Amino acid sequence: MTTTRTTAIAIRKHCRSLKLPGVAREYESLAREARERGWSHEDFLIEVLCAEIRSREASVVRHRLVEARFPEAKTLDTFDFHADVGIERDTMLRLARCEWVQQNGTVILAGPVGTGKTHLAIALGVEACRRRRRVLFVRAADLVRDLLEARDQRQLGRLQKRLLKQDLLLVDELGFVPFDRAGGEMLFNVLSERYERRATLVTTNLAFSEWPRVFGNDEKLAAALLDRLAHHAEVLTTKGTSYRMKKRGKTAAPPPPGSPLQGATPPSGPTPGAHTTAVE
Ligand code: ADP
Ligand code: MG
Repeated sequence: MTTTRTTAIAIRKHCRSLKLPGVAREYESLAREARERGWSHEDFLIEVLCAEIRSREASVVRHRLVEARFPEAKTLDTFDFHADVGIERDTMLRLARCEWVQQNGTVILAGPVGTGKTHLAIALGVEACRRRRRVLFVRAADLVRDLLEARDQRQLGRLQKRLLKQDLLLVDELGFVPFDRAGGEMLFNVLSERYERRATLVTTNLAFSEWPRVFGNDEKLAAALLDRLAHHAEVLTTKGTSYRMKKRGKTAAPPPPGSPLQGATPPSGPTPGAHTTAVE
């Protein structure tokens, strides 16, 4: 066995026991580069340590992406901002920097079905994962079901703790399925607990005036939630017809009058304009 081979085996073994996969992967090419460029031992050591840091960061991001439980892989690069979606690219690029997540902010994506709300929610979640934030994507109806189940199994505290651990909770499709009073209250508790403590993104096809219907027709609960959450959120309104329909070159039938899909623009308080408004 040559000395180089023995050395390589020893290095790999040490890397395994010290759990240094980045070093194991990169030390050979870095050693070659060090010889070619005449790096000092210290410079070589720095490069090797940086390789390990990069490897660990990438591994955390991979974990965060898995733990987020995104239903599909969607990113901002695949979102077509030319499709007259009602949301500016710059706004999404700003949100993609995740300062609002750091500041425990709230974003509400409202608009008709098929206009890209879930796509954008996932894309922002992916950006937060890339910044090593803890993210969880959940449909509102599933979240309420999980909360009720946890309550019945006396595990509610545990679930609430787990939810609060998430830096960003993405609650998709608020309004698709109305909840009974108990369910509405539990969702209310989760959302209001997060308010100013952790970041939340909600997607909804409902106007704010229709929120009481989702919260078991409890006007007070909905008003309290709107006060705490929606009125301090950045509200983005998607518009237009379903993107898929548009792509097929068809126009979706307009929603019937009074339909929840008709103009999901929150009507009370400062109205989000065609694009975005940070509602104070
Ligand atoms: P919503 O959540 O508003 O009902 P989705 O985000 O589920 O809409 O969008 C439906 C489908 O159309 C998804 O596959 C999504 O990726 C795609 N889509 C919607 N809007 C756009 C867009 N502007 N650019 C690219 N794909 C889009
Ligand atoms: Mg959706």
